Amino acid sequence: MAVSESNYRNIQQQLDGNNITLVAVSKTKPVADIEALYALGQRDFGENYVQELTEKQPQLPADIRWHFIGHLQSNKVKYIAPFVYMIHGVDSLKLLQEINKQAAKHQRVIDCLLQVHVAKEETKFGMDAGELNSLLQTFAQQESAFAHIRLRGIMGMASFTDDTAVVRNEFATIRSLFQQSKPRLPNQPFDTISMGMSGDYTLAIEEGSTLVRIGSLLFGSR
Ligand SMILES: *Cc1c(COP(=O)(O)O)cnc(C)c1O
Repeated sequence: MAVSESNYRNIQQQLDGNNITLVAVSKTKPVADIEALYALGQRDFGENYVQELTEKQPQLPADIRWHFIGHLQSNKVKYIAPFVYMIHGVDSLKLLQEINKQAAKHQRVIDCLLQVHVAKEETKFGMDAGELNSLLQTFAQQESAFAHIRLRGIMGMASFTDDTAVVRNEFATIRSLFQQSKPRLPNQPFDTISMGMSGDYTLAIEEGSTLVRIGSLLFGSR
């Protein structure tokens, strides 16, 4: 079995008592590995690619909460809208409108996180502070048009660097963007800061993460 039960227990112990959610990132890993972690009690799983997620989902138990953590194109929302629990990578009003429309077709409400960009890497997706600001403003003005969306919080990634001061600083920026956003959405259950991966989740927790997305520590390297 490729799944590391001891890592799973250790991570759970760190998260327990702090009310932090573990999303097990199963991208590129076979259904059998997901079943193995499910058998240990894990229910939240994260995937990055729409096609991979739609292939795996029907083969696995219906009580899994699927988190879409990759970059989502508007034209692909319809494929995951019937079952996805949370979409972490919302980075535009257009995408939010499409999620709302597709969720409505299935009489569902989909939890969403707004992705912010704080890392040095040019390639990372997400909004800067100004873009986040204008999305929040428009959403607050048109909130009744988004009945099938629940805005749950903010998602972000730190730079890939060994410099822990840089990583800590970026996580602190994500938390600060969360804290600035929350009071502007009093009708939303804004309660989630999704930050931290296998290499940096301990720092993320110290900086206020409420949800960590961990892949390789649980499933082995990809
Ligand atoms: C792959 C991925 C993860 C998990 O990465 P690991 O380093 O394997 O823990 C977390 N978040 C996002 C957005 C990812 O793409």
